[in-house]
Amino acid sequence: MTERVENNKALDQQRGLQCSACGHQRLRVIYTRAAKGSKLVRRRECRNCGARITTWERTAGCE
Ligand SMILES: [Zn+2]
Repeated sequence: MTERVENNKALDQQRGLQCSACGHQRLRVIYTRAAKGSKLVRRRECRNCGARITTWERTAGCE
């Protein structure tokens, strides 16, 4: 019987973004747009299961 090694989710979150539905890490960016407070809104689609995720990113820099 083969044992499947599960991803360490905490580690994956530190490494970067992943699909919340299946855990896949290849997410295609559908669009990026500016939002209030120098934030970026990114719409992403999982290449594995097709789930769509919206992320908000803050521009790095001075407060
Ligand atoms: Zn997925």
